[in-house]
Amino acid sequence: MNSLHLIELFLVVAGVAYLMMLAGVAKNALEPKRVRRTCPSCGRLTDDCRCRR
Ligand SMILES: [Zn+2]
Repeated sequence: MNSLHLIELFLVVAGVAYLMMLAGVAKNALEPKRVRRTCPSCGRLTDDCRCRR
């Protein structure tokens, strides 16, 4: 009985950790697309460009 509850708890914790990991991976996958845009004026990446700053 007791070990069954431990397995349930482990599955829940593992599931939550897995979802959090997926969310982190998705966020990291979306970040570069948003940040790495090229400047329309000079054609450089917006990180290197200083036209707008
Ligand atoms: Zn620029």
